[in-house]
Amino acid sequence: MVSMETITSLCKRRGFIFQSSEIYEGLAGCWDFGPLGVELVRNVKEAWWKNVVHQRDDMVGLDASILMHPQAWVASGHVENFTDPMVDCMRCKRRFRADHIDGENCPNCGGELTEARQFNLMFKTFIGPLEDEASQVYLRPETAQGIFVNFKNIIDSMRLKIPFGIAQIGKAFRNEITVGNFIFRVREFEQMEIEYFVKPGTDEEWHEKWISNRSDWYLQLGIRKENLRCRPHEEDELAHYSKSCVDIEYLFPMGWSELEGVASRSDHDLSVHAEHSKKDLNYYDPVAETHYVPYVIEPSVGVGRAALAFLIDAYSEEEVAGRKRTILRIHKDLAPIKAAVLPLLRNRPDIVQLAREITHALQKEFVAVYDDTAGIGRLYRRQDEIGTPYCITVDVESLDDRAVTIRDRDSMQQIRVSVDRLVETVTEKLKS
Ligand SMILES: [Zn+2]
Repeated sequence: MVSMETITSLCKRRGFIFQSSEIYEGLAGCWDFGPLGVELVRNVKEAWWKNVVHQRDDMVGLDASILMHPQAWVASGHVENFTDPMVDCMRCKRRFRADHIDGENCPNCGGELTEARQFNLMFKTFIGPLEDEASQVYLRPETAQGIFVNFKNIIDSMRLKIPFGIAQIGKAFRNEITVGNFIFRVREFEQMEIEYFVKPGTDEEWHEKWISNRSDWYLQLGIRKENLRCRPHEEDELAHYSKSCVDIEYLFPMGWSELEGVASRSDHDLSVHAEHSKKDLNYYDPVAETHYVPYVIEPSVGVGRAALAFLIDAYSEEEVAGRKRTILRIHKDLAPIKAAVLPLLRNRPDIVQLAREITHALQKEFVAVYDDTAGIGRLYRRQDEIGTPYCITVDVESLDDRAVTIRDRDSMQQIRVSVDRLVETVTEKLKS
């Protein structure tokens, strides 16, 4: 298994992920996606959206605002319950999560610790010019509540029949006491969440279906089966709103850890919002001819966490002709760059011109780049390391036969294809 240091270093060196505000010594728990990282996360989100919204008849999307009425967070229980117990070291003043330390003393200096206190993980800010309690709002700690408060709007406008779901991708913020393991535990992150509404009594069946659907999605995108497992939550680790929850865990370098949570939340959320808002959030079931508050299944994953798992699983090293070759064997749908066009001789204007023309033709269909900043061997290695599935080489012969070479990232096999058929060929290969 690759170490987190190796992945972190690759991500920085190749422009995937940078520490936030690095020139100011960084901001803990915040990360920036660089030129390749932003392409990767866009692809992860696109693959998810396609799978859970566009390719289903029972799902719709939503993009709710980050700031919500503060009462929504009172209703959801986050103001009261979204807390972690924390202890402070009386000597070095560091703060730790009480449930993250072993023993009685400070893990940093051995000093004495305070009693545990509850610390709310929601970030606060203010609406308008007055910074008083009445204008206080929260940066949402999850996108889910934006879905619940829009339940009625969506039912009324979209004529949906249960079972159906609402999907959302968006930023969420948690003032975690301890952050770490690269982008695994962070303070600002992007979530991909689904609230799937079902008739009470069918919730267990749908819970199972979603656990299996979501696991399959990772496998389809190249995560190895042996690195994925499902773990039901123990009673004492269930969130305050959960009836039951199963974590889809991935074998990260630091050990098995949560990749995605699939929670069964009963009618808790809709019921508390109905109570606090005094609005009717019942659903009229035309088949059963009855009103009820639907139960809900919630598959929820962080975009960054999913991207990290895909990077780790794709990373490999092999020896080719006595030299180390690093390859990111990432699924083609997720690869930041689909094809790189490399001129064999960069000082030949006619070769460069043809290579540029080819690049522009490819760019109309997918992400393609032109690179002539090094010798061909080095250019191949660079593209292998960032997971580019195909390299297209333009050589002297190309000028005569109007053909180029396509090199496959994984097998390193090369085929010769006419320039006229290049776009079509690579497009087909990317789909296969
Ligand atoms: Zn200490």
